[in-house]
Amino acid sequence: MIYLDYQATTPLAPEARDAMMAWLGGPESDSFGNPHSPHRIGRMAAAAVEVARDQVAQLFPPGGQVIFTGSATEAINLAIRGNAAVRSGEHIAFSAIEHAAVIDTVKAIGNWTELPVGADGVIAPDVDMPKYVGLLAVMQVNNEIGTIQPIPEMAKRAKETGALLLVDGVQAAGKMALPQEADMIAVSAHKLHGPKGIGALWVRDGLSLIPHVEGGGQEQGLRSGTLSPALCAGFGAAAALAVERQEEDAAHIESLWQIARDAFDGWTLNGSVEQRWHGNLNVRKDGLDVARLMSECREVMFSAGSACASGSGRTSHVLRAIGLADAQAKSSIRLGWGRYTTREDMQRACSIILEAADSQA
Ligand code: PLP
Repeated sequence: MIYLDYQATTPLAPEARDAMMAWLGGPESDSFGNPHSPHRIGRMAAAAVEVARDQVAQLFPPGGQVIFTGSATEAINLAIRGNAAVRSGEHIAFSAIEHAAVIDTVKAIGNWTELPVGADGVIAPDVDMPKYVGLLAVMQVNNEIGTIQPIPEMAKRAKETGALLLVDGVQAAGKMALPQEADMIAVSAHKLHGPKGIGALWVRDGLSLIPHVEGGGQEQGLRSGTLSPALCAGFGAAAALAVERQEEDAAHIESLWQIARDAFDGWTLNGSVEQRWHGNLNVRKDGLDVARLMSECREVMFSAGSACASGSGRTSHVLRAIGLADAQAKSSIRLGWGRYTTREDMQRACSIILEAADSQA
């Protein structure tokens, strides 16, 4: 099987797995402690969590605090629901191509404005934005079409209106620098070769949030609940590795992009050619029956471009936002690759998909 769905999740790095194993101890070990217990075994677990926090902090701009959460979805919920301005009824603006974690949370709360993107899948820096916005949410790299948003410009717009800027950095973390200009950034371990079940919210120094999960007061009172040292250690190791290998990974990913781009030469690229992450290809071909294609290419794990990434069965709001008609969205596929994809796998997967697509003609 060839896995080309790196925007959905990524394989666990062996280094992250080893780091986790060290904190999955049984009764004979001393590595099962509750990091919030004051005794020696608890303090050892707490020390492992803090080492991991420092490693994860390397993904973010200098300073700030890293709060561990159960996922990026939870981190985004904390950022939005924990925001005092939002709680007191201020408006939230978000780009039309945000992940459901942002859109559905915002809509569940109240006053919002959706900011359009162009046909290139990029928000215009001079987009119309209401003056009374308290929070602006813009993602760095889109999970469906890979487009990169102009975060520095959006930060300026946020400042002008006195809004805070929340950046969904899930698809960017470990691959490129996360934005200095953000007030809050959400990330997820499983998108950067860490374990599932852990994410983090980075919060700029001096910014205070209202607790979103009440209880024992863990994570500076913002997210109560016992942390898993194994998940933290796995996240930490994956983050450290991503930082260390960033250039090497990017060069490898670029070489895979060239293979994919050449192979799908005759197809239409969804989203900007220039402003995009090269570990994603979302392309369409007129008349393509994607369901049939996927059933004929069972050996290759990829995504139907039209399926909403949240897995809800809804049609992709991202492809709609860039102006695609239903038929165009339904003839789109998404391929995603990364560190552990080999050039041979990429070549083979492209041939399998293209052969099956050509046989439909
Ligand atoms: N934001 C983006 C851009 C994503 O791609 C995802 C996952 O698909 C999320 C948020 C949610 O991340 P998690 O799975 O950690 O909740």
